[in-house]
Amino acid sequence: MAYETYEPVIGLEVHVQLQTDSKIFSTDATAFGAEPNAQVDPVSLGHPGTLPVLNRKVVEYALRLGLATHCSIAPRSVFARKHYFYPDLPKGYQISQYDTPICYDGYLEIYPGEDEDTEGGRPSRPDSKRIGLTRIHMEEDAGKSIHQEGGKTRLDFNRCGVPLLEMVTEPDLRTPREAYLFLKRLRQMVRYLDISDGNMEEGSLRCDANVSVRPRGREAFGTRTELKNLNSMSHVEKALDYEITRQIATLEKGGSVQQRTLLWDPDAGTTHPMRSKEEAHDYRYMPDPDLVEVEVDDKMIADVEADLPELPRARQQRFVDEVGLPPYDASVLTEERAVADYFEAALDELYKRTKGGDTDAQAKLVSNLVMTEVMRVLNEQDIAIDELPVGPERLAQLAFLRVEDKVSSNGAQEVFEVMLKEHDTSAGKIADERDLIQVTDAGAIEPVVEAVIDDHPEQVETYLGGKDGLLGFFIGQVMQRFDGSPDPQLVREMLRDKLEARKEGVEE
Ligand code: ADP
Ligand code: MG
Repeated sequence: MAYETYEPVIGLEVHVQLQTDSKIFSTDATAFGAEPNAQVDPVSLGHPGTLPVLNRKVVEYALRLGLATHCSIAPRSVFARKHYFYPDLPKGYQISQYDTPICYDGYLEIYPGEDEDTEGGRPSRPDSKRIGLTRIHMEEDAGKSIHQEGGKTRLDFNRCGVPLLEMVTEPDLRTPREAYLFLKRLRQMVRYLDISDGNMEEGSLRCDANVSVRPRGREAFGTRTELKNLNSMSHVEKALDYEITRQIATLEKGGSVQQRTLLWDPDAGTTHPMRSKEEAHDYRYMPDPDLVEVEVDDKMIADVEADLPELPRARQQRFVDEVGLPPYDASVLTEERAVADYFEAALDELYKRTKGGDTDAQAKLVSNLVMTEVMRVLNEQDIAIDELPVGPERLAQLAFLRVEDKVSSNGAQEVFEVMLKEHDTSAGKIADERDLIQVTDAGAIEPVVEAVIDDHPEQVETYLGGKDGLLGFFIGQVMQRFDGSPDPQLVREMLRDKLEARKEGVEE
């Protein structure tokens, strides 16, 4: 309703916590889950007389993200001090970048239609939309204030100096869903680049959202508010929804939106303003005299570029064009780099065994096993793919049994279940031990089929009289008498042929 007359405009500011071994300006460790204040050297604590030294890895990671998102790279950029007073900031200023970010003017693509119509009819190649990136800059994190009951606050300085990349988008997003999809793509990207785990719930990805509304058709932006305390991708979406509705209602009542910072309250599902004192900032940015300019030369850019992994979109396209997968499979399998790696490793192992044949069908077979069996277990057990007891090599054993038609698709499911528990037994051995190997040898099946037909003259007559449904009865009889698992498809065809042959015989 109101969305029809007003258009939301959204821009995000996202902090990506980098997974380097040491901090941005010191050799302090950054291990997650350490005892409070166990990773606090004098630099992190801002002791007088200490000097920051830039961690080269942070520059490299910034370039990885910048190059992967089509940014220009500044040949020289400057670290600046951003001053503010807060107990978790022992130096009294945060080292950040101000007017010269290391990366600027890039974009990240989202696919707005990707999750529409989930009833099997997902658009396989939804249109893409570019979300402009104003800048990506490097900075250090502050510590953590832990507010306790009774009014006491404790401080953990472990996080002081942990490296962050701050990314600022252009106001290009138009719906809360697009903001959600942007974060999903950004998370995927930082994981592909192996620079962060991108986990919003754990704070490795933190997002503030700026939002305004304008009457549809008008070019000028409305007044925006900034939403903070968004701790998951779905909170970002919900908070934006709430705030857009609030802004529209305000305007409809003839009021005006105040530019200010609002905190999302996930329990109440509402936003409320920050105290205005907390909002009033005068950061007094100035170049940090303790740090030299960051120089990035062409060689460094070329080295980082050469080292970039294949990125999600390119990989998805290759899975379609070269591996021969349907687009839907390609998008599911490339969502997580580790899953795509697993799939490709399993497929390579399968190719080694098949040495040719219908490779598209083989790829689809492995894809089905990954998308159904493997992903189901990952979800059920909430584990990462590298924790799965069935590695790619063993999945290929199972796929090979299917390629050779040695097990049915139900049989394959059963074998997979056992493989999860029996870590050292091959797929073939499991299938053998559980009598799941299909007999596909017509010569072995034929006598049993004939015996069954001979033993049931009445049913044969009824069948030939037009009761086709009896075929199932004959199949059941053959399966029962057979020692092992005859290929059901073969049994069905053979029975039908032989029964039809009798019909012709009768008519003669
Ligand atoms: P600030 O000076 O407060 O940091 P910026 O101009 O850097 O503001 O913008 C911060 C974020 O707000 C950016 O992501 C930008 O895209 C977004 N933004 C700017 N103007 C608007 C607006 N009118 N509506 C929604 N988002 C906006
Ligand atoms: Mg800004």
